[in-house]
Amino acid sequence: MHIGIAGAGLLGRLLAMELSWSGHRVDVFDPASGPGPQAASGSDAAGWTAAGMLSPVAELECADARVFNWGLRSCYLWPSIVHGLGDPVGLSLQGSLLLAHRGDAGTAQRVVGLLQSKASAPYQPELLDAVRLAELEPSIQGPALAWLLPAEGQINTVQAMQALAAQATRQGTHWHWRSTVHALEPGMLRVQTQASHRREQVEGLRLTQPEQGESLRFDHVFDVRGVGARPQLPVRGVRGEVFWLHAPGVQLSRAVRLMHPRHTVYIVPRPDDMLVVGASEIESEDRSPVSLRSTLELLSAAHSVIPELAEARVVRSETNLRPALPDNLPLLSREKGITRINGLYRHGWLVAPAMVEESLAGGLS
Ligand SMILES: Cc1cc2nc3c(=O)[nH]c(=O)nc-3n(C[C@H](O)[C@H](O)[C@H](O)COP(=O)(O)OP(=O)(O)OC[C@H]3O[C@@H](n4cnc5c(N)ncnc54)[C@H](O)[C@@H]3O)c2cc1C
Repeated sequence: MHIGIAGAGLLGRLLAMELSWSGHRVDVFDPASGPGPQAASGSDAAGWTAAGMLSPVAELECADARVFNWGLRSCYLWPSIVHGLGDPVGLSLQGSLLLAHRGDAGTAQRVVGLLQSKASAPYQPELLDAVRLAELEPSIQGPALAWLLPAEGQINTVQAMQALAAQATRQGTHWHWRSTVHALEPGMLRVQTQASHRREQVEGLRLTQPEQGESLRFDHVFDVRGVGARPQLPVRGVRGEVFWLHAPGVQLSRAVRLMHPRHTVYIVPRPDDMLVVGASEIESEDRSPVSLRSTLELLSAAHSVIPELAEARVVRSETNLRPALPDNLPLLSREKGITRINGLYRHGWLVAPAMVEESLAGGLS
């Protein structure tokens, strides 16, 4: 089949990789200027900024059983996806840690109780004593309470975004950068390229609907535009801020979550002595640089459990928008000629492989 994909973020790349591997002819359209991160424009896919926590259990705090099941399935699928990519992608599934200071012990007990009531037996949080915590993660000091969340892990999102696109390209996917999809119907994308936009600006007086671009026909189309899927979907962006720290000497092999009254604070190890610390969650579509308040709160929280971070260098910070629907749950809608996936919110890397698998199950019509 000839497939058109609107959006080259996390979902667009995974779909392109899977569909081109199955022998379909795939064209992907995205306003970005190329396959790499678009730091200068400040309008990157959320997939680039994500810390890549794969947390089916911890996300149960705000998600439902579908997200849990998609999450478990994705944790099963990621190793074979990564294995099939031509370029290396960091992936670890040896559990994550949930930590709490004494002042947040009550909140932590409530959250762990909630996770215990929602997660099935093999995935229950395991309370760790100080000796076991020190064995697992020697750089962590100070939290009063710690739990191991089995089956959780993290993926290197930057490597994965690059490797998915490269693999899809090797399999014949055709990427159309600087191309905005304004509307979708079954089997049709209305696309405006930057070149056609410029032409329309010049010749605008002669065109009746210059903003609408060109209609392109496909056998099946996918709408995976994230926050860009408005107005067809009631999606909103939820601002998130992350920091990249260079911290030689800090030994961290698992992603760590720390209970905090205002944020979901996490610290995720990356290669070359780097750590990603995130993330604020603010009901705003403001993509401007990180705020002083988020900087103080997130980095103080990280330092409070890894004192060695005092001498870490803040290499960069990033802001991006999580695509969320009104119920904060993912949407997968399949019709003849068109599939829409959106609302992956703060667990896109956790659920995307399983959602893509489900969207393709039984073939496309
Ligand atoms: C700070 C932060 C931290 C996060 N941490 C995690 C985490 O630890 N674990 C986890 O699982 N998830 C995390 N996420 C969530 C995850 O990144 C998202 O859920 C996921 O990227 C959503 O994938 P997507 O493909 O739907 O959207 P995106 O990755 O945002 O991609 C959408 C694509 O559509 C393109 N587009 C937009 N408009 C148009 C248009 N009109 N036409 C064509 N293309 C268009 C965009 O340019 C973009 O490339 C985090 C997100 C943020 C922001």
